[in-house]
Amino acid sequence: MQTGTAHLFIPGPTNIPADVARAMIVPMQDHRAPCFARLLEEVRDGLRPVFGTSQAQIALLPGSGTAGWEAAITNTLSPGDKVLVARHGHFSALWAEMAMALGLEVEIIDTAWGAPCPVIEIGRRLGRDRHGAIKAVFVTHNETSTGVTSDVAAVRAALDTSFHDALLFVDGVSSIGSIPFAMDAWGVDLAVAGSQKGLMCPAGLGIVAAGPRALAAMDGAGMVRSFLDLRAMLSAHEAGSFPFTPPSQLLHGLRAALERLHAEGLDTVHARHNRLASGIRAGVEALGLRIMAGHRVFASDTVTAIRTPQGIDARAVIEIARRRYNTQFGSGLGPLAGRVFRIGHLGDLNEGMCLAALGVAELSLRAAGAAVPLGAGVAAAQGVFADPEPVAELQRPFLTIAAE
Ligand SMILES: *Cc1c(COP(=O)(O)O)cnc(C)c1O
Repeated sequence: MQTGTAHLFIPGPTNIPADVARAMIVPMQDHRAPCFARLLEEVRDGLRPVFGTSQAQIALLPGSGTAGWEAAITNTLSPGDKVLVARHGHFSALWAEMAMALGLEVEIIDTAWGAPCPVIEIGRRLGRDRHGAIKAVFVTHNETSTGVTSDVAAVRAALDTSFHDALLFVDGVSSIGSIPFAMDAWGVDLAVAGSQKGLMCPAGLGIVAAGPRALAAMDGAGMVRSFLDLRAMLSAHEAGSFPFTPPSQLLHGLRAALERLHAEGLDTVHARHNRLASGIRAGVEALGLRIMAGHRVFASDTVTAIRTPQGIDARAVIEIARRRYNTQFGSGLGPLAGRVFRIGHLGDLNEGMCLAALGVAELSLRAAGAAVPLGAGVAAAQGVFADPEPVAELQRPFLTIAAE
């Protein structure tokens, strides 16, 4: 039997704060009544600053982040349209695969896993595309499989300097709500999030923010869509409801989660994620282990993918943590299975939880046969957390939002 708190250190679903959980225990309600319209409006209003937008329209799709990907594609594009996608991890690969399955022509830039979105190569491909065949560029802001954050503003700059009209679609599923995201300032045309990562809710909602250019593209979009029709959803939302029965409990949870984020302050939320991630990274380094992210400059503040030493199966580490220590770490996805385990450090999290994650990781690594110095990771993270000043890490200008 397992005792004590089960520690969940996967990069989604994340821990649900008690007040968010309680907010979902409500009687069923009429989703065509004024009180539901108010709830929906509060949720959409609360999401706008989290996405960094005042212009975009927000749709709440029953489903998950993957539904958001599909809605992005089928509502704005036509069969055979060309899209440009960098493949540098499991999630960027899956989005590209979906685009192919849905009948798009997908130009793929294969990039090393552990590297960010290759902005210079994107600029080169756009510059070469003289007749504007590329209709959209897909960027995975935070590649959750490798723990790498990409520079979205730089992709916008690449589009602008090539005078290219392609739409910019961004997967922010594991970044939005945890690290800075500035949809309007970065010129993102459409952004996707999910309810179960930085937004601290159960899975069940794919959240799409569509900016003016994405909304305009819906006029000519020839792809087949029905359940995930964004225009039907947005016009129902404007009228205070859904085109079908909504998951209202989730919306109650999301409203409570947004209240928490705004009460803490988005800047404070982002700074907290940076501080906690810095502690985790310092701990991993002190254990002599390497992370997937090729450089600290683009190491993610929401998830760290840790390579196990040669000969140590990461699956064994994860299994020992689960069985002996009631702790769940994320697994290595796709080709990283067995080579990597991941610590999710996003959402409702504090220093003590990060120390527990590192302490259990040390024990599990040791039990799996890795010669890690017990306590060294915890001590290094404590060193970071003991310092009241923000961590003097490398400058990460693209991870902050420039003042307007
Ligand atoms: C989790 C995740 C997804 C998939 O979202 P689901 O909600 O599981 O459909 C997509 N992209 C990224 C970056 C993710 O982390």
